[in-house]
Amino acid sequence: MEVKAKIEALRDELRAHNYNYYVLDNPTISDFEFDMKLKELQTFEEKHPEFYDATSPTLRVGGTITKNFETIVHEHRMYSLDNSYSKEDLEDWEKRIQRILGDVQVAFTCELKYDGASISLTYENGLLVKAVTRGDGIQGDDVTNNIKTIKSVPLQLKGDYPDKFDIRGEIILTLEGFAKMNQERLANGEEAYMNPRNTASGSLKLQDSAEVAKRPLECLLYSIVGKNLNFETQFEMLKKAREWGFKVPTVAKLCKTTNEVMHFVEEWDVKRHDLPYETDGVVVKVNSLRYQDELGYTAKAPRWAMAYKFKAEQVSTVLHQITYQVGRTGAITPVANLKPVLLAGTTVKRASLHNADQIAKLDIREGDTVFVEKGGEIIPKIIAVDFTKRSIGSEPTTYITHCPECETGLIRNEGEAQHFCPNDTGCPPQITGRIQHFISRKAMDIEGLGGETVELLFKEGLIQNYADLYTLTKELVMPLERMAEKSAENLVNGVAASKSIPFERVLFALGIRYVGETVAKKLAKAYKNIDALMKATEEELVAVDEIGGRIAESVVQFFSEVSNQEIVARLKSYGLQFSLSEEQLQNQSDVLKGKTFVVSGVFETLGRTELKKLIEDNGGKVASSISSKTTYLVAGDKMGPSKRTKAENLGVPIISEQDFLAMV
Ligand code: AMP
Ligand code: ZN
Repeated sequence: MEVKAKIEALRDELRAHNYNYYVLDNPTISDFEFDMKLKELQTFEEKHPEFYDATSPTLRVGGTITKNFETIVHEHRMYSLDNSYSKEDLEDWEKRIQRILGDVQVAFTCELKYDGASISLTYENGLLVKAVTRGDGIQGDDVTNNIKTIKSVPLQLKGDYPDKFDIRGEIILTLEGFAKMNQERLANGEEAYMNPRNTASGSLKLQDSAEVAKRPLECLLYSIVGKNLNFETQFEMLKKAREWGFKVPTVAKLCKTTNEVMHFVEEWDVKRHDLPYETDGVVVKVNSLRYQDELGYTAKAPRWAMAYKFKAEQVSTVLHQITYQVGRTGAITPVANLKPVLLAGTTVKRASLHNADQIAKLDIREGDTVFVEKGGEIIPKIIAVDFTKRSIGSEPTTYITHCPECETGLIRNEGEAQHFCPNDTGCPPQITGRIQHFISRKAMDIEGLGGETVELLFKEGLIQNYADLYTLTKELVMPLERMAEKSAENLVNGVAASKSIPFERVLFALGIRYVGETVAKKLAKAYKNIDALMKATEEELVAVDEIGGRIAESVVQFFSEVSNQEIVARLKSYGLQFSLSEEQLQNQSDVLKGKTFVVSGVFETLGRTELKKLIEDNGGKVASSISSKTTYLVAGDKMGPSKRTKAENLGVPIISEQDFLAMV
């Protein structure tokens, strides 16, 4: 097949798979097959930049950096919604509508109110051209590059769509995706995100679209605005939008009376707990677009729509006891142990109290009757104390001053909400937590060893830290509970096999606070081996791209502790990888150190990603926009004229791909 046709066939196929997977939730090939095809397309595209297409599925992985989001005035204003909380509110609204419209039959479309961040997408001739946040309703931020990485947002429409229109929707994170993100953060010693909505909304404003691409965001759509639209009702609009490839939930219902509307509300107030994402109400809309037009808008909201807010479910129960959990990093979390109570379909026994301030603010005490709420959120929270039920002799809670596990005095750093147990080498949950992190899949990935066995090994005195894992023998672990010869062998073999895990993952496995997977990679690349890294000062560390003061301080602190130095020395003696491999080193140099490049246009020999990688591997820095700090602008074909002018004005030398290749 001719190359162009081959590329197009691959693109079409991948688009269809994206649609099946992300819009219909119905994949027809495995993730692996999909990745292979995507790789194939990437290779073709890099070899043939002349067939560039702004809607190619390969662009979904992101990579553009936006430093400042441009403000865009919405062509059609984005309104808010009026709220109602009862059947009476709804009936009053219906009466107001009827007064304006006169004696006509009004039908309503009921949709769920998705709890996320509003977005407006502009399509022209079937192509996504802009994505703008709601902002203040009149103007918002241009987040197009970030939105393009969300796979349920079609870059190219199908069917008989209007030439130009805006479509509005909500960017959400599924509960499952949100939980996964938090697991990873906790594994990296970072604080968990509070809720899916704020996290979704924060994701839109990340500077690196490749980071956005990694987040399991989705876009649910509900409204189209524009001229010459080929439909007459809200309900029809939803159907059309689905046909053109948008993800529009099918829960929507056409209702003829307020009674039917209330029925829908009551039904979904229960069923919403089974949905994969959070909703906070029902939006009721006058179905006919002509009537919508007649009704118009108030200063703030459409007269033709009304949000019916679900009540966050609330129950009261007794708080038996406040206990304290110690995490891998020593962070203390107070936990409310409750008299079990049914809430939003699940039995709740415990709720997080977050930190000392939270307890003080709400004046929560053991023995209190408290109100527990579960909005859409996954984790129930205590929102208030029922003071009428407080017994006379009740005493204010005094926060613990010593670690419940090791009795060390707790510390609280300035500006931090959490208390910490500083005894990182002697506090049992910190010790086992660190070892569990060390063996985890993304770190040393030790097969044949699980979290519970780590606790057992520690309890039996066989390990005190992760270096001790490498001293285990079959004979030592065989006598353990539930340990057969075969499993003992697997454990020892698994530990031995981990000695070939590459340096950057060993670095991540060490469990240095704030050193997650990405930071570990950056540090490994910048320092190449552990000895150099251990000698680095805070000033040197912050000079590394993307390493901030908080990380630098934590790294220096970690390696300044003698116990950590000893452990690293032992791990080295067991043969773990503490420097980049020959192969990794060969592809690297320092020749571009101190130089900052901006890459623009289409290139002949190398793909753009490859070019950027080459710059970084050789010690250079890649920036997204030209400034006085730019050393070179590497210009390919079809470079934007504004970039050229800017470079010329600032006196930044413009070089070709060949000039660049000669440098490295
Ligand atoms: P509020 O933020 O409380 O003023 O509610 C208005 C917002 O609800 C709108 O800006 C939308 O982003 C959001 N929303 C969520 N689901 C829907 C829906 N099905 N129809 C209309 N708006 C919705
Ligand atoms: Zn402790």
